[in-house]
Amino acid sequence: MKINENYSKLQDSYLFSTIAKKVGEYTAANPNNQVIRLGIGDVTRPLPPSVVGAMQKAVGEMGTAETFRGYGEEQGYDFLRNAVRDYYTAKSVILDGNEIFISDGAKSDLGNILDIFSQENTVLIPNPVYPVYLDTNIMRGSKVVYIHGNRDNNFLPMPEDGVAADIIYLCSPNNPTGAVYNRDQLKKWVDYALEQNAVILFDSAYETFIRDESLPTSIYQIEGARHCAIEFCSLSKTAGFTGTRCGYTVVPQELTHGGVSLNKLWLRRQTTKFNGVPYIVQRGAEAVFTPQGMRECRENIDYYMANAAVIAGTLDQLGIWYVGGENAPYIWLQCPGGLGSWEFFDFLLENAGVVGTPGAGFGTNGEGFFRLTAFGNRENIVTAMEKIKKIL
Ligand code: PLP
Repeated sequence: MKINENYSKLQDSYLFSTIAKKVGEYTAANPNNQVIRLGIGDVTRPLPPSVVGAMQKAVGEMGTAETFRGYGEEQGYDFLRNAVRDYYTAKSVILDGNEIFISDGAKSDLGNILDIFSQENTVLIPNPVYPVYLDTNIMRGSKVVYIHGNRDNNFLPMPEDGVAADIIYLCSPNNPTGAVYNRDQLKKWVDYALEQNAVILFDSAYETFIRDESLPTSIYQIEGARHCAIEFCSLSKTAGFTGTRCGYTVVPQELTHGGVSLNKLWLRRQTTKFNGVPYIVQRGAEAVFTPQGMRECRENIDYYMANAAVIAGTLDQLGIWYVGGENAPYIWLQCPGGLGSWEFFDFLLENAGVVGTPGAGFGTNGEGFFRLTAFGNRENIVTAMEKIKKIL
């Protein structure tokens, strides 16, 4: 027996465990001090009422012989795929139902999609970024090349001359930076991918947070993308599904390699290894796309974005450089006074009782930067910002 030695090349993820340890030590030493957490990337608002109602109804159906459902449809139920298709139509993206695969969220599909590609590919990954892209490639032993986000490019790295790639990860709106690519920038990426005969794995998990109507919310709004991009989306942040689990992945029919359809490969992969999403959850997801469901989701997102505005307004007043917060629930700031990410973490915790996420946890280019999230409760965010203003 041999194990996959690539796992030994993974860096231990100390980020959230170190944060938890430091916060634990702080609360033990200061039991009367309030700790406000602006670090975790999880939603806090409950599921929209129309989603809850749809799932309750579906539970009832499952308990009656006439309406009971067993194994579900391979790519997800038609009712949900049609709802997703119509959602895309409203943003001027025409999809065929069989290009949509219902998933249990973006993370699984972002990792599993690698099954349909050779290990020999060179993979382009932004630095800093959501760590799953890098770790899933290390697990396979693929060659990884970085594209660098920094202050100069507002953390929106562009294709670099002389850099060859077969698989390109893009995340817009970005976690952790909250930065969003505009149409021209995405067009350059699409052109680059087409020229390289590469595939773009486009993570649009935060697309519903985009406010600026000139910004693309799907890569398929860019000409040529149907020939080179797979899009991963999720209801986790859109509709509070982080614990309910549902998302969707789009694999266009035009995506082929040597005459082989990537859509067919993914269908084969999923029908072999993926059990699908429960009927009850798919009914809840369907409700997200109804006019009422969309309004309810919008209210929650508005709430988070108003939080983001409070954070951004405070940083403006303090003259701290940041990106994000306008079209994303993340605010990525440069640590003041030239502090390192962890130094600033300690400073904020010890002096204000505020917890954020050190940027260094998202890649080497995150050193000296810090992520705050807008997913908290308004009063806490206002209190945290007042405390930050006092100590800076
Ligand atoms: N993609 C990005 C950029 C994320 O930040 C996250 C979650 O934090 C995910 C994907 C995972 O989403 P899901 O909950 O749908 O698996």
